[in-house]
Amino acid sequence: MAKVLKDNVFSAVRAARAAKEIHGDEVVDVTLGALYDEEGNMVVMDAVWDVFNDIPNFQKAKYAASLQGNPEYQKAVKEWLGLKKAHVVATPGGSGAVSVTFRNTLRYNDTVLFPSVCWGPYKIMAVDQNIEFKMYEMFEGDHFNLKSFKENCIDIMDRQNRLTVVINDPAHNPTGYSMTYEEWEAVMEFLNELAERGRVALLNDVAYIDFAKNQAVAKDHFKLFDHMHENLLVITAFSISKTLTAYGQRVGAAVIMGAKADEFKDECVHTARSIWSNVNNAGQVLFSEIVLDENKRERYLEEKSKYVKMLKDRSDLFLKEAEEVGLEIYPHKEGFFATVKVDPEINEQVHEKLNEELIFTVGLPNGPRIALCSAPLRKVEGLAKRIKDVIDSVKEA
Ligand code: PLP
Repeated sequence: MAKVLKDNVFSAVRAARAAKEIHGDEVVDVTLGALYDEEGNMVVMDAVWDVFNDIPNFQKAKYAASLQGNPEYQKAVKEWLGLKKAHVVATPGGSGAVSVTFRNTLRYNDTVLFPSVCWGPYKIMAVDQNIEFKMYEMFEGDHFNLKSFKENCIDIMDRQNRLTVVINDPAHNPTGYSMTYEEWEAVMEFLNELAERGRVALLNDVAYIDFAKNQAVAKDHFKLFDHMHENLLVITAFSISKTLTAYGQRVGAAVIMGAKADEFKDECVHTARSIWSNVNNAGQVLFSEIVLDENKRERYLEEKSKYVKMLKDRSDLFLKEAEEVGLEIYPHKEGFFATVKVDPEINEQVHEKLNEELIFTVGLPNGPRIALCSAPLRKVEGLAKRIKDVIDSVKEA
């Protein structure tokens, strides 16, 4: 069967661009998953690119020091995340870390478990590697659905004696949910128990971690990875795409913890050699220079904190207005996105009607995704009411 990629993000972005050519500033474009400032410019941080511009050309030209990633890069990733005991394998973006995890924890026709609302490419990565997927219901009311998570994990363990499960947290794409520490504790307690029965791999995708509102607690749950059952492996998928808003550098990491981490690291390096060889050297140098030099790190943290605040302001306004007008959204706390809850039966019509009203979102199976990251406050203002009106009009029709 021919494989043809249908990417609903890029098609939505194209539609919004075309509308802007005709209707200009009337258009509300909340399609783009990259960070834009209040003036509508893509965020490019001086504290990042000044460092990049000082990287000598030979560093930009050469291969990285090893397939596993530059030693300084590995050190910087561990320090940054506070995961000192981990093994780090550099990957092309967070995407590489996700993909390599599916590939090396599962066999052909095994099933991987995703949240019911999730980043679309997980499915593409599974299917492309002949891996099936199943989904746990992510929410029960306004919190993480532990019951559904457990039931689905057990079901998969019953069927294939091994489990790989994805948790994209904190600042989940596309809802902006972040689990509480207590929810994480319950998840880890359960996975440690389940590991008695077979190999368990937890993929914690932290692509948006550096834009969580409260940086002091965003990494708290990592301490639960320190003491795990010997059959439990945790792979934290890290990326500089969002952290440094350096999407095009294609640098990320699989950060591996657990008794079998050493062996799994070797498997990932083997996969690296077979698919992408090594990862962009300049991007790795960029990250390690910023993290391992106190002045550069502080300058970056200060500049980034402005944008964390900018996102928080947009998210606070959208949440407040959604509540005021009774617009149902998935539980949201922080991050780049929020997603509106729409009955699947009218989801397609809502998407089309929003476009007619010059509101461009990414139409997900669960409802329209609102990229708060790319819309200035003035465009967020009033948006919840306009979306609510569209949903009501479709329901009435
Ligand atoms: N995980 C999630 C949930 C994402 O939204 C993204 C990017 O959009 C990624 C991982 C990985 O991105 P990249 O491969 O650019 O690091």
